[in-house]
Amino acid sequence: MKKLILKPGREKSLLRKHPWVFTGAVERVDGNPDSGETIAVRSSQGGFLGWAAFSPLSQIVARIWDFSESARIDREFFRARLQRSMSMRSVLLGPSENGAVRLVHGESDGLPGVVVDRYTDTLVVQLGSAGAYRWRDVLVELLGELTSAHAIFERSDADVLALEGMQPSVGERHGTLAVDPIVFEENGLRFRVDLQHGHKTGFYLDQRDNRALVRSLAAGREVLDCFCYTGAFSAAALAGGASAVTAIDSSADSLAMAAAHMELNGLAGAQFVAADVFQMLRRLRDQGRSFDLIILDPPKFAPTAALAERAARGYKDINLYAFKLLRPGGVLLTFSCSGGVSRDLFQKIVAGAALDAGVDAQILRWLNAAPDHPVALAFPEGEYLKGLLCRAPT
Ligand code: SAH
Repeated sequence: MKKLILKPGREKSLLRKHPWVFTGAVERVDGNPDSGETIAVRSSQGGFLGWAAFSPLSQIVARIWDFSESARIDREFFRARLQRSMSMRSVLLGPSENGAVRLVHGESDGLPGVVVDRYTDTLVVQLGSAGAYRWRDVLVELLGELTSAHAIFERSDADVLALEGMQPSVGERHGTLAVDPIVFEENGLRFRVDLQHGHKTGFYLDQRDNRALVRSLAAGREVLDCFCYTGAFSAAALAGGASAVTAIDSSADSLAMAAAHMELNGLAGAQFVAADVFQMLRRLRDQGRSFDLIILDPPKFAPTAALAERAARGYKDINLYAFKLLRPGGVLLTFSCSGGVSRDLFQKIVAGAALDAGVDAQILRWLNAAPDHPVALAFPEGEYLKGLLCRAPT
């Protein structure tokens, strides 16, 4: 029997149903398992802890599929997990033929390394672990059966693959991808998505509810949308009646798509600026500009806790300038999607920025990823996106 034996006393996190085994906790691996193969994880005393996928090249050397000894990790196991995950979405979000939704969110849905997003009738699968790679064909087949998707596209090209020692894997896995970009709806607005080249699986679905919030706050306000990507927050602001939107991103391709999105939705009043946000915020300040609603949705500054300090400086800087640009009574939606920066730390950084900017701001709301990106209580690392809705005094 292929198995991994832990060092004495290292079973605690697994007993709390945390699904990761780090190399430092391992006493030995028996039976020479292949990459991604299912192995039993046992305590130093031989007690069964879980069935896991073996990742020989990763710091996370095993990820638990199931904690129960009677479980069998086979096609039926994956069918049941996928069904469970998808039924939660239908309860939560209702049927939405033209919408986009995250159907599977990795560890937090009991499927470590497996992400599946649905854009209308097309699925995008993003695999990020040796175990997920091993079960690729089964997962794709099951997804085809369970969703009747027209096409399934694989986008396993995230940075984390390198940490797993895996090669990127990108391409059609089922059906044929439409030649034209897919158009889907979010909160009644239409967006195009480039599944092959877009960020993540093409769109930041995790911000859906926060865009709805922006829409509800935008009436009559002058908006600054920083790190706008393909303009989804800008579109929400204009649809909510913003008087004008200035949107900044360093990627010309993303801005071209953002402009196309305004046209697709018949929205006027956005000005797109190709620039570095760090520099542009200073320039706007020098020009004496100010805004009623500012969005800061930067890329991941710190994928791991080791990089948190450098990330903290980045967050401090942009939040400081955002507070300086905020009019009295204005609101700031500020986000971090860095796994290495906790909610607590992020709030401290934003507090420091407000203090240095001389703005006596309040938090009106703590912001999260939308509920199709759940966080398993046993897996706090799943909470990567955190944000604050802050208000400057009048
Ligand atoms: N708010 C977007 C998602 C932002 S993703 C949405 O809701 O869809 C982060 C974006 O930041 C990317 O589009 C990337 O091109 C851009 N970016 C990264 N570093 C930047 C910088 N220093 N200045 C401007 N844009 C930057």
